[in-house]
Amino acid sequence: MPRPGYPLTILEFQKRFATEEACREYLFASRWPEGFICPGCAASDVGAETRRHLWICTGCGRQTSITAGTVMHKTRMPLRTWFWAAYLVSTFHPGISAKQLQRQLGISRHETAWAMLHKLRAAMVAPERTLLKDAVEIDEFFLGGYEEGLKGGRQRGKKVLCGVAIEVRGRGSGRLRLAVLPDASGPSLLAFTQATTQPGAVVHTDGLQSYRALAKHGYDHRRLTQTDVAAGDQLLPRAHRAISNLKAWMHGTHRGVSPEHLAAYLDEFVFRHNRRRTPMAGFQTLLGLGLARDPITYREIIDQAA
Ligand SMILES: [Zn+2]
Repeated sequence: MPRPGYPLTILEFQKRFATEEACREYLFASRWPEGFICPGCAASDVGAETRRHLWICTGCGRQTSITAGTVMHKTRMPLRTWFWAAYLVSTFHPGISAKQLQRQLGISRHETAWAMLHKLRAAMVAPERTLLKDAVEIDEFFLGGYEEGLKGGRQRGKKVLCGVAIEVRGRGSGRLRLAVLPDASGPSLLAFTQATTQPGAVVHTDGLQSYRALAKHGYDHRRLTQTDVAAGDQLLPRAHRAISNLKAWMHGTHRGVSPEHLAAYLDEFVFRHNRRRTPMAGFQTLLGLGLARDPITYREIIDQAA
């Protein structure tokens, strides 16, 4: 039995997860698509489910909670509320605030909604680990520079240097990676490239000298200068599009983000970008049910079907 899929519409979602029982069945099927396997002794024979929803292994007697290892573990919140919270956080563009979440789900305390949001957001960090491949645009840029001033005005704050890596998919963009960079030196940009992009990939960059080392480290490096593109065209169009979308999102949703929190927002932006065609797929990941890999892109689905 394969892992269960996810509902594509809000009506499907509402129908499918109408009861606590339905949520529990979904969790069970997501965690043990091949049937129950005891984490203690690997036996597959499962006894009764207790009233507290623990599964007892007939081999060793170990009790396993359906929510162990997920964000829902040991919380008092109903599973349905968690499911809806994950749905809203993953599908709300450009992101949902704790206050909105509290209102939408009728959560009585703001602190509870804030803590839920925080847990769900934390799941946006981990899964983005597979390397970009084939052809990738890499660039560096400054982010921030504005923080809320004491009198409500905007003050010039510290700008933070960031790196962007984005896959070239025909005329469009594939997966995205973003990171805060210590500086624009050769070693920093090489480290960023190695952390994001598979060796052997074609890497497009601008003429910055710091990228020169890429060719020596297994990348098919293509340096572009303004003479390589038609007048008015951008050197690295996908990277620049991602940067301007990021800036608009940061400006609209997260005004006055301090540099310490910037990395988390970059992760959230990457998470949303990489699921922009299937935002509902994110709900499993946020609950802690996701596999540690990127979701299949629309393009990959089309390619596989062809
Ligand atoms: Zn066991």
